[in-house]
Amino acid sequence: MREGIHPEYKKSVVTCVCGNTFVTRSTAGDLKLEICSNCHPFFTGRQKLVDSAGRVEKYNRKYAKKGAVAGQTQPS
Ligand SMILES: [Zn+2]
Repeated sequence: MREGIHPEYKKSVVTCVCGNTFVTRSTAGDLKLEICSNCHPFFTGRQKLVDSAGRVEKYNRKYAKKGAVAGQTQPS
């Protein structure tokens, strides 16, 4: 490799909010994740909504009373 033109490809510790950590290499240094292969529903096979902003809960609350006419939109 030519000297002086490549960023440093250093060891980096990746930390997920689920508690999983692993070591890889990156030019970016240590990384922090909100979701990783250890806790993502695709890999766990469990149904878990990735809903950090509470949007699904908000949606369910808004449309809970309209259960019978679900699918129909009403002007608000
Ligand atoms: Zn994770």
